[in-house]
Amino acid sequence: MIKGTVIKSTGNWYAVRRDDSLSVVNCRIIGKFRLDNLNVTNPVAVGDYVEFELEAEDNGMIKKIGKRKNYVARQSPHNRHDVHLLAANIDQVVLFATIIEPSVKLGFIDRFLLMTEPQDIPTVLVFNKCDIYDPEAMATFEVVRDIYEQIGYTVILTSTTQNIGLEDLTNILKNKTTLLSGQSGVGKSSAINAIQSQLELRTGDISDHSGKGQHTTTFAEMFPLDFGGYLIDTPGIKALTFNNLRKMDVAHNFREFFKLSDNCKFGGSCTHRNEPGCAVKNALETEEISPLRYGSYLQILEEVEDIKYWERHKEL
Ligand code: GDP
Repeated sequence: MIKGTVIKSTGNWYAVRRDDSLSVVNCRIIGKFRLDNLNVTNPVAVGDYVEFELEAEDNGMIKKIGKRKNYVARQSPHNRHDVHLLAANIDQVVLFATIIEPSVKLGFIDRFLLMTEPQDIPTVLVFNKCDIYDPEAMATFEVVRDIYEQIGYTVILTSTTQNIGLEDLTNILKNKTTLLSGQSGVGKSSAINAIQSQLELRTGDISDHSGKGQHTTTFAEMFPLDFGGYLIDTPGIKALTFNNLRKMDVAHNFREFFKLSDNCKFGGSCTHRNEPGCAVKNALETEEISPLRYGSYLQILEEVEDIKYWERHKEL
């Protein structure tokens, strides 16, 4: 059998880079696959180590998927009962956002972190377009930066047009396998193209009606970086909901809440809502915990508890 790494998935076909020759072979896979008891829409993810057999000169059949060091999975945007694997075996995630144009959505960041926290994947938050931040937007950035830095995330500020922070970004990406994500229009492709021009990631305009440049990346793809490392470009994410998390998964993956839960009267089973002797509620009062994070938390908790929720909200 031939060993390789999946570098692109296009639905039924997977491009696999052979370990021995680095050439790329298109492979298929047959069978049903599950992940944590949920159906996965794509059994093999970009980043997966696989073994395959050649069926013709340039295509093959995947026979074995290697044990994953980690993975990033989301609820399928097409089927609320399934999960979709975004990538596997990564060193870190770089999540792009902006304070304005489009305006920051902390709820989205908190939801995103619920995909990386359960797998202990380091996540860097990049706030782009700082060239257009007025003093008010800059003040907002500082508040947001403090919230996430205080709980241990790396936060950087960039402008692709003014070449600010791009060296920091390059150093973060160097020699690592990174999943790049963020809502569309925040400047992911522009930033990557600025630090590695020949990659030519697809850029899209924020407006759907501009009539130009509106390409959406539909499949994840891994690119080598010439300064070392790999970048996995993923489709822009519009919204994140969770069919793969239960109430306590949410509580345990807001990292600063989890740290405090030892001190809750009900310990690891405290939902930090109305329980007496809740250390998280106390920390909220003393402002050690951000009310914005707590607000995101309550909203997500309600969603995962509310089974009827799905009937009302097809896409959040
Ligand atoms: P993506 O969807 O996240 O890949 O975003 P794009 O890279 O396609 O960028 C979306 C829009 O934002 C484009 O019109 C870019 O020219 C613009 N843009 C990207 N980075 C910056 C930046 O640092 N400053 C400003 N002012 N505009 C930017």
